[in-house]
Amino acid sequence: MPGPGFYFTGAEEEKEVLEVIRSGHLNRYGSEDDPKFMKKVYTLEHEVAKKFGAKYGLAVTSGTSALIVALQALKIGPGDEVIVPGYTFIASISSIITVGAVPVLAEIDESLDIDPLDIVNRITPRTKAIMAVHMLGNPCAMDELLAIAKKHNLYLIEDTAQAFGGKYKDRYLGVMGDIGTYSFNVYKTINAGDGGLLLTNKEETFKTAFAVHDQGHMPLRTGLEVGNRSVVGQNFRMNELTGAVLLAQFRKIDLLIARLHEIKKQFKDILKKELPQLEFRKLNDERGEIGTLLTVLMPTKETADKLVEKLGTKTISHSGWHVYNNMEQILGKKQLTAGPPFRSKEFPTDVVYEKGMLPRTDAILNRAINISIGVVDAGLGSGFGVCPLSSDEEIRTKAMEFVKAAKEVLK
Ligand SMILES: *Cc1c(COP(=O)(O)O)cnc(C)c1O
Repeated sequence: MPGPGFYFTGAEEEKEVLEVIRSGHLNRYGSEDDPKFMKKVYTLEHEVAKKFGAKYGLAVTSGTSALIVALQALKIGPGDEVIVPGYTFIASISSIITVGAVPVLAEIDESLDIDPLDIVNRITPRTKAIMAVHMLGNPCAMDELLAIAKKHNLYLIEDTAQAFGGKYKDRYLGVMGDIGTYSFNVYKTINAGDGGLLLTNKEETFKTAFAVHDQGHMPLRTGLEVGNRSVVGQNFRMNELTGAVLLAQFRKIDLLIARLHEIKKQFKDILKKELPQLEFRKLNDERGEIGTLLTVLMPTKETADKLVEKLGTKTISHSGWHVYNNMEQILGKKQLTAGPPFRSKEFPTDVVYEKGMLPRTDAILNRAINISIGVVDAGLGSGFGVCPLSSDEEIRTKAMEFVKAAKEVLK
């Protein structure tokens, strides 16, 4: 089941896409003088950057490619370490490995985002950046993270794949650090099947990012080469069809988040009233989080396990691939030493990836249960819950189902 944007896909997306198809101009580059060029990707980049308060936007093919481009734009590579939470989607980690750097896993706290206090313990002379992930729509503790990054002279990358449109103290997520990245895959706030974007305020970073994303080219709307291609890049270009879908989706973002907040409040109010002792995930900005999920922290692992069994869902610990313990690709440095481009002799031996290496993260996720509000995804552990189209009656019924089961477990 998809993320919230999918439920609001309709006439607007159809119109935008039709314009592109009828124009016959499917790639992102074109001339201003060409009436057939609809410049959807260009418009998307500018509209998102403007609304979110960033100077520059760059659309790419996915959230993963946005991360790879971000890391390369900041010139992070072999010999560098990047601190990243142990609870995130594998792309946060794999992108670091792809550019030849070393991911250093850090603990989360009760917000389910990276724990700023734990980051400090993991800084070494090789540390180049912190990759903060706004997990499940919930903003990281940005004040603390920005202070640590400044003090230790580290880049701050905001992986905002799960929190497009979220805010921290009235600023959009993704524009406070050095680069913010977004994903538009089918599970995210808005989607086009796949797609990604990054935002930055630094001209130099943007230029390098643009070059990395397209074979060293300079950022021009027309995309014409102007010489001086100093960067060896890749092709992570977004095409006009994707840009068209995303433009329509993006223009609905306020409505969409308002709807998520409305449903979440209804659900949460019932839980708060019926189960006053129930603990929820800590929110670093209650108004700014986007409300795709409602996360409950049960008192113990045992009570959490009993409750999920009754509800037919799973605790976050057991829900799949967002937990480092379930990332068989990296455990025991398996894939990191599998061969080119990750040669074992270049890989420092003092960094470990082992089950149980983040005891605090494990303890929190063992008692954490995700209830879906906008993202119905068993991979996130949100197999139980509601969706953006649920009626008030359905929301009430689901919430009471949770209350009944929780009361049995907690009595
Ligand atoms: C989805 C996701 C990504 C990657 O996005 P894709 O578009 O699937 O490549 C990166 N980081 C996080 C935290 C994500 O949830």
